[in-house]
Amino acid sequence: MKKIVALILATLMMASAAVGCSSTTTESKAASAESKAAESAAASTAAAGDVNVGVCIYKFDDTFMTGVRNNMTAQAGTLGAKLDIVDSQNKQPTQNEQVDTFITKGVTALAINPVDRTAAAPLLEKAKAANLPIVFLNREPEADVMKSYDKVWYVGAKAEQSGTMSGEIIADYFKANKSADKNGDGKIQYVMLQGEPGHQDATLRTQYSVEAIKKAGFEPVKLAADTAMWDKVKATDLMNTFISSQGLDKIEAVLANNDDMALGAIEALKAQGYNKGDKTKYIPVVGVDATAPALAAMADGSMLGTVLNDGENQGKATVNIAVAAAQGKEITKDAVGYEITDGKYVWIPYVKVTTENYKQFQK
Ligand code: BGC
Ligand code: CA
Repeated sequence: MKKIVALILATLMMASAAVGCSSTTTESKAASAESKAAESAAASTAAAGDVNVGVCIYKFDDTFMTGVRNNMTAQAGTLGAKLDIVDSQNKQPTQNEQVDTFITKGVTALAINPVDRTAAAPLLEKAKAANLPIVFLNREPEADVMKSYDKVWYVGAKAEQSGTMSGEIIADYFKANKSADKNGDGKIQYVMLQGEPGHQDATLRTQYSVEAIKKAGFEPVKLAADTAMWDKVKATDLMNTFISSQGLDKIEAVLANNDDMALGAIEALKAQGYNKGDKTKYIPVVGVDATAPALAAMADGSMLGTVLNDGENQGKATVNIAVAAAQGKEITKDAVGYEITDGKYVWIPYVKVTTENYKQFQK
């Protein structure tokens, strides 16, 4: 009797277990079908709130990139996406490690301002291995690197354009002010303060500014040129060197690859009593970027002109692309709000900033 009861009980238990089991299976099948649907929906239109972009800036202590960085943060806030921004401290090995850390942490996109634009390939390979979209900005990787992955984009500006514009500002000044040609030889004796060697903006701004002076009908004469690494303090030192080697009265124009260096040069000129209001003691200085201090220097008359390097739109475009790509969207003008060239490039236009229009760039 006991045996029969035990047998019946055991049978019942097995049956109910089987029922329980089968119902669990059905439920979990349904659940997994649901989550698969959700996953594929996520792949095409993931919420911006689920996006986490790992951002490396070559160094935080750069005036122009600080502006870009602040605009990136603001745009991520607008979109509701998360940004994790780190300072690569001007060291490529540090940046490489930061990218590894981002990938381990599970970011869904990368936005990288490389320390060394010729060392972008290993960064791209890391992104590729993790199947992550990667957006480079401000320092342009070589074309073959850009071609080696279907989820890489570049946001920047055409350096040639900024060079041309800064040269035109100088040429226009010489056309309007005959006495600017101090030695009256019809040529423009200039010194050039260059950005970091190897940076496309340093090379091309230098080259195209001089070209523009020639195109405007002047013969440019290079007195001296050297790098001040985009840096204001280094530029003051370099300008002092130029002043002592060339003589202040020989220098007719100062061309700087960015505003920080233009402002550094102006410090050196001011220390000699130049560019402080006395019209007989003035040397035209041009930069690039249109930073707030540069616009202030234009307002007080110590700086002739600059070129807007539109960090606001560069920052926005970078974040829009990184977020859209992380959401699985196709990168088109409709999706990101910026024209995409060759499927990979966003070129933000430069704008010439002169005494006539500088006020409209002041914020
Ligand atoms: C800017 C410089 C800046 C550099 C950093 C250039 O486009 O004009 O001011 O230092 O980018 O990479
Ligand atoms: Ca001259």
